Amino acid sequence: MSVRDRVEEIYKQVLDRNAGEPEFHQAVAEVFESLRVVVDVQPEYADAGLIDRLCEPERQIIFRVPWTADNGQVHVNRGFRVQYSSVLGPYKGGLRFHPSVNLGIVKFLGFEQIFKNALTGLPIGGGKGGSDFDPKGRSDAEIMRFCQSFMTELHRHVGEYTDVPAGDIGVGGREIGYLFGQYKRLTNSYESGVLTGKGITWGGSQVRREATGYGVAYFVAEMLKASRNGLADKKVVVSGSGNVAIYAIEKVQQLGGIPIACSDSSGYVVDEKGIDLDLLKEIKEVRRGRISEYADKVQHATFVESGSIWDVPCDVALPCATQNELGEDGAKALVKNGVIAVAEGANMPTTPQGIQVFRSAGISFAPGKAANAGGVATSALEMQQNASRDSWSFEYTDERLAAIMRGIHQRTIDTADQYGLKGDYVHGANIAGFVKVANAMISLGVI
Ligand code: NDP
Repeated sequence: MSVRDRVEEIYKQVLDRNAGEPEFHQAVAEVFESLRVVVDVQPEYADAGLIDRLCEPERQIIFRVPWTADNGQVHVNRGFRVQYSSVLGPYKGGLRFHPSVNLGIVKFLGFEQIFKNALTGLPIGGGKGGSDFDPKGRSDAEIMRFCQSFMTELHRHVGEYTDVPAGDIGVGGREIGYLFGQYKRLTNSYESGVLTGKGITWGGSQVRREATGYGVAYFVAEMLKASRNGLADKKVVVSGSGNVAIYAIEKVQQLGGIPIACSDSSGYVVDEKGIDLDLLKEIKEVRRGRISEYADKVQHATFVESGSIWDVPCDVALPCATQNELGEDGAKALVKNGVIAVAEGANMPTTPQGIQVFRSAGISFAPGKAANAGGVATSALEMQQNASRDSWSFEYTDERLAAIMRGIHQRTIDTADQYGLKGDYVHGANIAGFVKVANAMISLGVI
């Protein structure tokens, strides 16, 4: 059997074994596109069950999360933690609380995380978790009780040398606080390194809150530099208005770009004068309100309830909300309106058809694995500070983050070059991440 046939056989097995998990299939399909290129040059990577093992999580945990609402009603949610690969370090990846969460989504996120974490150059494995719990409209006390119940089960499976979760959609500083509090209580130890994204006064790192968004902005600035352009004065459209979107907007502004639109699941706002970040933070971080409130406050801004944010003409697009939010039509609209670069702040926000549109049009396109790795990289910096009982300044940590993003950008384009795929960030990121993990797997034997 040829090496290519062997890879096709593994791919088919992965699809058959994980039926009904379309997001996972999509994430695997994208990586396999790059693996076909790799095994043509280095057929040894198709041996020893290496790819088969890489596609099967080391451990998948599903558990019941019962909790009591303020009105006394008992609810039962489902909790997940997929410990995907610990070949480079403890499992590392966020927790997502959103009603759409299921095993397939957690597996796709965990799979992506392996390669992303490898790309950072830091010693972290890949994992992901979460729950189908919907935090929207829940009181603070309900969120706390849910987090406590979630951690009461999860605590048996995590630890600073085992598995270190962080935040993701629906899990920010407040939730990490309640989760850490319950972990501390259950284990009777102050094990700071068990979670990242902690508050600054209780073991957190400067810049962790900002890191994913800042990292996306640093990355896209490098992309524009590589194509002899700059971010200054570029009009930027950012989807979402959560953690990643807000801090992408902040750093884009600091680097001279002009973010003109952002969104949430109820619609999008356009402010051609540039998004007023203080107002956005007030609405989203303080009041936990809806994006339409921005247009209520800013007269010249418009709120569009239905329709696509990708119809807003811009130079740079940063999808920072959720998976599969930028499809073929959105990509075509962006290309028609003259977009020059797209970098994914969210995980897998662009559909395969959308990526194809950008590829065909020769648009510079960076996958989340590379462009949004600043969050997990800064989590690893938080772990370093916890291990050495140290805390670094904002400026120093931000410099480390910027250097890491420049490193990821360089590694990605160098790898694409090396395999004859100049300028292809998708292949570059997949291959650089894969080769690092694969070499470590070979060294550690069949486990
Ligand atoms: P938040 O919960 O802080 O924000 C998510 C934003 O996306 C909100 O504005 C939300 O709107 C919107 N959104 C979520 N789901 C949908 C949907 N189905 N349709 C439309 N809009 C939606 O999450 P984060 O900012 O932390 O995460 C955003 C993305 O970035 C995710 O893909 C995540 O996996 C990825 N990511 C996050 C990292 C981090 O450090 N936080 C690290 C790396 C990647 P609404 O409030 O209306 O739901």
